[in-house]
Amino acid sequence: MRRIYEAAAYTTLRNCWWRDGTPPADHPELKGGHAAEIAVIGGGFTGLNAALALARSGVSVTVIDAEQPGWGASGRNGGFCCLGGSKLGGSIMGKRYGEDARRAWHAAERAAVDHVSDLLSEHHIDADRHSKGETLLAHSPKAMQRIRASFAETHETYGVAPDLIPPEELRQRGLGGAFHGGMTLPIGFALNPAKYHAGLAAAASKHGVQFFGQSPSTAITKSGAQWQIATPNGTITADKVILATNGYSSEDIPGWLRARYLPVQSTIIVTRPITESEQTRQGWTSDQMCYDSRHLLHYFRLMPDRRFLFGMRGGLRATPRAEAALSRKIRADFHRLFPEWTDIDITHEWSGLLCLMRSLTPFAGPVPEMPGVFAAMGYHGNGVAMGSYLGARLAEIVLGQPAKGPFPAFLSHPPKRFPLGPMRRALLAPAYAVAGLFDR
Ligand SMILES: Cc1cc2nc3c(=O)[nH]c(=O)nc-3n(C[C@H](O)[C@H](O)[C@H](O)COP(=O)(O)OP(=O)(O)OC[C@H]3O[C@@H](n4cnc5c(N)ncnc54)[C@H](O)[C@@H]3O)c2cc1C
Repeated sequence: MRRIYEAAAYTTLRNCWWRDGTPPADHPELKGGHAAEIAVIGGGFTGLNAALALARSGVSVTVIDAEQPGWGASGRNGGFCCLGGSKLGGSIMGKRYGEDARRAWHAAERAAVDHVSDLLSEHHIDADRHSKGETLLAHSPKAMQRIRASFAETHETYGVAPDLIPPEELRQRGLGGAFHGGMTLPIGFALNPAKYHAGLAAAASKHGVQFFGQSPSTAITKSGAQWQIATPNGTITADKVILATNGYSSEDIPGWLRARYLPVQSTIIVTRPITESEQTRQGWTSDQMCYDSRHLLHYFRLMPDRRFLFGMRGGLRATPRAEAALSRKIRADFHRLFPEWTDIDITHEWSGLLCLMRSLTPFAGPVPEMPGVFAAMGYHGNGVAMGSYLGARLAEIVLGQPAKGPFPAFLSHPPKRFPLGPMRRALLAPAYAVAGLFDR
């Protein structure tokens, strides 16, 4: 597999907090010949949601993962089950694809959150849910002015009234830090992603989905009316194939993917449990999941066990030197925003790859010139809800059924290639520099 980051980005998972409570899956390697109606490549939220929906329709499904299902972003994210998935502004989306498509997109964002909530209830998955919606915190007084100005549009877009939080009320609401006010939109919740993933995998197994780990697909070739997926020690023959590899995709499996996705690292730290008096000292006692208004945003939440999770963009490279620099940077940012917690031990720290698309919108649909091959990817750092939702919608596309939820047609427009080919992550350095200037 040809991938655009250093090998460590694909082969190492440092000290990830979710793994302490939920051991990783341990499925056998695919060996020898195997047949399935549908083969799913990649066992994250996208692949599992597609697999579960297909298996429930009576189709035989096999999921393979290069490492183990949940190894990718789905097993190491911040657990914000929230709106999002696109980085395209609403007004540009409306101009480019029409107002109906824009409205359908926003309806899909809401439906995606409900989709995960319904899965948790239906399959009795205890994923440590908390937070009533999501809170945006202003990083400057000017940012607070922009948040106030966005109130009416946000209300109109999502059909629910946000709650504006003036700066003087932050501490009494348990949101004390280096912020200048905020706004809560009561849609979304936080979860433990590893527990959600494990529950989903158990539900899929119950419906007959077969899983193989340590089984990277090394070639996808046409064989008569079917597809053959080769792994180092096995082969799957399938009528249809789903690519669900997102930020862990490669340039050559299949070649169609080359330069059509841009993986980006995100990094998270988790503290030891913070005592009540330490919480009071900082003025942060809230269970809300929050993010700040910077372009290069931080995301954070006090988890049910009172550990604090804090995440931000990761490094441009996956080398020990870049990791060390990022480690210093994330600590400095954490201490700047929460100055009363400089003495709190940070016990866990890890990074992972999310995925951007050139259109700034996700893709879910058939892969051109590969009849019977489908893909869903590119959630721009918000794939807990949207990746789950589009995985399920992709199952309907594969079966030729109408979408069972809002699905604007532009989501199936084939993604265009980024410039610079395998060097395209060089695009991130100037983008980060400009965003950093705006964030001052
Ligand atoms: C640190 C971090 C924090 C994040 N926080 C949030 C958050 O709080 N909220 C939110 O909504 N989103 C968040 N995201 C994004 C979210 O996690 C992803 O959008 C989502 O998990 C993508 O799911 P997926 O199934 O498409 O891909 P992944 O979960 O990345 O799964 C892809 C899988 O494909 C496998 N694979 C790749 N190539 C092959 C191959 N050739 N053969 C077999 N298997 C292969 C990989 O091993 C991997 O397991 C975060 C991401 C990161 C990295």
